[in-house]
Amino acid sequence: MAKLDNRRINFVLNLPIEVKAKVLYEYLVKGTSNRECEKKIKGLNEEDGWQAWSVIHFYGFDKEHKKKYKYTQKFITEKLNELNETDIADLYLNKDASIIDEDDSEVVMNETDGNDVFRTVKKRVGQNKLRKILLKNYNGCALCNIKDKNLLITSHIIGWNDENTTKEDRVNPQNAILLCKLHDAMFENGIISLKDDFTVLYKDGYEFDDQSIDKNLNFSKPSKDSPAPKFLKEHRKRYRF
Ligand SMILES: [Zn+2]
Repeated sequence: MAKLDNRRINFVLNLPIEVKAKVLYEYLVKGTSNRECEKKIKGLNEEDGWQAWSVIHFYGFDKEHKKKYKYTQKFITEKLNELNETDIADLYLNKDASIIDEDDSEVVMNETDGNDVFRTVKKRVGQNKLRKILLKNYNGCALCNIKDKNLLITSHIIGWNDENTTKEDRVNPQNAILLCKLHDAMFENGIISLKDDFTVLYKDGYEFDDQSIDKNLNFSKPSKDSPAPKFLKEHRKRYRF
């Protein structure tokens, strides 16, 4: 995910929706280069392509999306109107968020499904909001003393990709735990799980000692939105605890 600075973000925020829709239409549908977009589109000035490029990046698109879609400009305008631009800007400006580094690989772009067009940016906005909530609720990693935000991650109890996961579950703080990268990886891979009372469960046969991994973990409850039993149950079931 490209990083955008203040100047570029403000530029995009101040641009009329129709101009942004036109840029996306030209780039995503027709395959017009960003420089050509600037020449062609009223409302943009020729400036080495950065104006058009800022718009393209702002909505989470990149070279790989050029000429990949078959939508009308009207459809794109409608989609843009559904997005909250302030939330998107916050993605780039919020220094607490390392969403930019979180895994996007599970986001599948599918040109035949109109709802997928802005899925990446919607997902990031959702993740960003959820992360902010967790950083407020938890005092660092729920399982150790790590408080460095760069090492903390939103760990989903039931993953984004799970076929049973609803839209609401994905952004539900009770379906997430703030964990450090190590404990996230352990939880994500089913090396540990949690009982409904948050007692930590350890995978049978895993060589915790060999990896110098502490087996005396205590779960620190968040100030609110504790993990919900229905999600924890699902996690235990999946990893056979
Ligand atoms: Zn930890």
